[in-house]
Amino acid sequence: MIAGNPGGLCMPAYALDRFDTPIDASSIPPADWDMFKQRPTGDFRMLCCRAPAVLKNSQLNTQFFSHLNDECATAPETAWHIQGKTMVLEGLSQLGLTPRSEEPGRSGTQKWCADTWVQFEGRNIAIELQRSYQSLTEFRRRQARYLAGGVECYWLTRPEVFATLAKSCAQYRIRTEFGGKFPPAGYLWPLLAELPVWALESGDEPRIYGAKKTTASVPELLKAVLARRCRWEDGVWLITS
Ligand SMILES: [Zn+2]
Repeated sequence: MIAGNPGGLCMPAYALDRFDTPIDASSIPPADWDMFKQRPTGDFRMLCCRAPAVLKNSQLNTQFFSHLNDECATAPETAWHIQGKTMVLEGLSQLGLTPRSEEPGRSGTQKWCADTWVQFEGRNIAIELQRSYQSLTEFRRRQARYLAGGVECYWLTRPEVFATLAKSCAQYRIRTEFGGKFPPAGYLWPLLAELPVWALESGDEPRIYGAKKTTASVPELLKAVLARRCRWEDGVWLITS
């Protein structure tokens, strides 16, 4: 298990600057960071609720943003969603692409709206950030709807959502692939070939992880998606190099 703060944002790495551009605290050289600390209050605002942010350093000297006044009024699920979406959009931009947020589209008569969406070498790619519980039936329905519209969809979920989904996927595999009995091997990796999904742990060191100790940073995952290096293998969604 990776250390962090599931679903929470105790040490946010991103804030908005005066031009509403998301700033990654970890990308700012320490000397500039110290200079930014002298700027007037309100020059930086929290991504989650747009409240004034202050610049801080953790005991391990990690640079992060913190609410100037009270705690964040935004629910942890919402904060996770905002941070996740920002990291995906930022990561794709840094790869020279032009991602879009809340991109609408349709498959036949069915409408969809992707959290994040990007075109790359003729492919339409959606990355959905699932913050709250969603049944496996609904995951599969939405995935099929994207597929019908010519869109590849990849899912990032909150760790709690991933744990519940993995159990449902395992039950589904046992029912559909193993005739209702636990596989003779004595173990089962749960994920479905039709549903690429990983958990995203937010916090000061965001990580993606999946079945069988698969782990990556957000940029690593994005590069793997673009290069078609995400591969399903017997219940595991691997991020291969
Ligand atoms: Zn906030």
